[in-house]
Amino acid sequence: MIMKMPSYCKNFRCIASKCKDNCCIGWEISIDPSSAEYYKSVSGEFGKALERNISCGDEPSFILQGERCPFLNKENLCDIIITLGEDKLCQICRDHPRYFEWFADIKEGGIGLSCEEAARIILGNKETFSTYETDCDDAGCDDYEDSLYEMLTFARDEIISTLENSSPPLKERIGAVVNYAFEVQSLIDNYQFDKTPVKAQYPAEKTAPDIRSFLESFSNLEPIDNNWQKYLQNIIDSSESLNEISIDNNKVDLYLKNIAVYFIWRYFLKGVYDEEIISKVMLMAISVAMIKLMYKKALLSGEALALENCSLLAKNYSKETEYSEENLEKIYNMVYDNPAFRKENILSII
Ligand code: SF4
Repeated sequence: MIMKMPSYCKNFRCIASKCKDNCCIGWEISIDPSSAEYYKSVSGEFGKALERNISCGDEPSFILQGERCPFLNKENLCDIIITLGEDKLCQICRDHPRYFEWFADIKEGGIGLSCEEAARIILGNKETFSTYETDCDDAGCDDYEDSLYEMLTFARDEIISTLENSSPPLKERIGAVVNYAFEVQSLIDNYQFDKTPVKAQYPAEKTAPDIRSFLESFSNLEPIDNNWQKYLQNIIDSSESLNEISIDNNKVDLYLKNIAVYFIWRYFLKGVYDEEIISKVMLMAISVAMIKLMYKKALLSGEALALENCSLLAKNYSKETEYSEENLEKIYNMVYDNPAFRKENILSII
């Protein structure tokens, strides 16, 4: 099979000790069976350190020291890489921040927005979205209708090319994409997988935004970072002022467009498995709306909207949503049962 990744992934290198929110802090790291076996075979002082710092049991993991991985040294560098080599990392550490999805003959992937260096690369990408392919030995998964896969692959290309257009404004392009998603969903619901959904231009919906209810909806999610709840309350308290600020900045438009494409590339094609794509496209629109409000809040606080700051804010948002399957599920459900997450409100916020 082949593996397809966005071209910008080639630029990713972990910035390790320079990282402000290191992924080796604050998480339980499970060790895959073959790495666990290998770690048992390591001899000498380092072998003993591995033995001391790995929990036994069905699912071995590193025993955290406070919040830190025991092999993250004082310089915030990984002692496993330093002592044994990068190829001896366990699967999770080797993959992070990459994500993958398996289809019949293709494995797709990318780098996740919840890593600050990946976020900087994604947001700052000045090229039109493209992918590259490499060979891969993994087994595929074909638990879906081929014709649905064909239709959704076509629809995803249409959506990405709409987002990549330089006109109309991003808000209207996202409006067109959201409405297109409803057309695609109606074909899916009627099992018309062989039909070609028609791409059309739609004006953005115009209603007064309910920013406060939109922001308050995020209180329903399980907080991941210790600072998030305080930040969320702060931004909720600024709801009225946020309504009065506009961001007129081409660079920010580029960042938000790249975020929109990221969410579509990562989540849309999962629809072949559950035959539902509206919540996946709405996740993109909700994420753009929320991150844009976070940028407005930064402006209100006198912060510059440079790439560095904008990618850190996007990373913070991603950590609270994409890091948790449960939180993603809650957002998908709110698309259907929370009026603040209706497309009219989201589009008017964007
Ligand atoms: S979050 Fe990203 S840049 Fe930071 S340590 Fe992890 S992989 Fe490296």
